[in-house]
Amino acid sequence: MKNCPDLATIISYSSGALSKSFALLVSSHIEKCGHCKKNIDRCHEMGGSFLEETENTDLDTNSYALFLDKLEASINKETQISEKDIFDKSSEVPVSLQRYIGRDLSSLKWSFLAPGIKKCSIKIDEKENKHLTFLKIKSNKKIPEHSHLGSELTLVLKGSFDDENGRYMTGDIADHDHTSKHEPIVTSQEDCVCVIATDGPLIFNSFIANIFQSIARI
Ligand SMILES: [Zn+2]
Repeated sequence: MKNCPDLATIISYSSGALSKSFALLVSSHIEKCGHCKKNIDRCHEMGGSFLEETENTDLDTNSYALFLDKLEASINKETQISEKDIFDKSSEVPVSLQRYIGRDLSSLKWSFLAPGIKKCSIKIDEKENKHLTFLKIKSNKKIPEHSHLGSELTLVLKGSFDDENGRYMTGDIADHDHTSKHEPIVTSQEDCVCVIATDGPLIFNSFIANIFQSIARI
């Protein structure tokens, strides 16, 4: 079964209420998920009919359509790319992320986080100082325990990991709020590459613990 964002996340995405980092992960997911795409279309339809049914005479019934047009225009403006940058739909990198990291995951500038785990932080918004955190983890390694304020989305770009909720394959999203405790472990033979978006900065609690654990195993 495919792991999708919560319906609440989908509704927030549809209404444009998600932060940029969360929205990027959701749009990366829906590139390959017809189920979520359908739900987003439904949200748009419901939003449109709600506005049409409202009795507020000041409100133009086309407001919602205009709003969507504006939103689309602003996204297009934002994603405007030069001629030489042509997005590649067959890449392992979702089209939504290609303008930030290119088309090849191996070209990311990975730095050491713990044995078997590499990390790369990509700034996606200068003004708001927003980042996406990419992790590359070897088979059988645990994804470092971390804390954050608010919610967290994790999108699998390559490989797979398991937690108590099941298996997350490439393209799947794990949608957690700050109350959930999870200890994901990489189950694929190949490295697992995932990207994490959080409301607040990502703090790895067990950074030292991970290092010691790995050294002890050696
Ligand atoms: Zn989905």
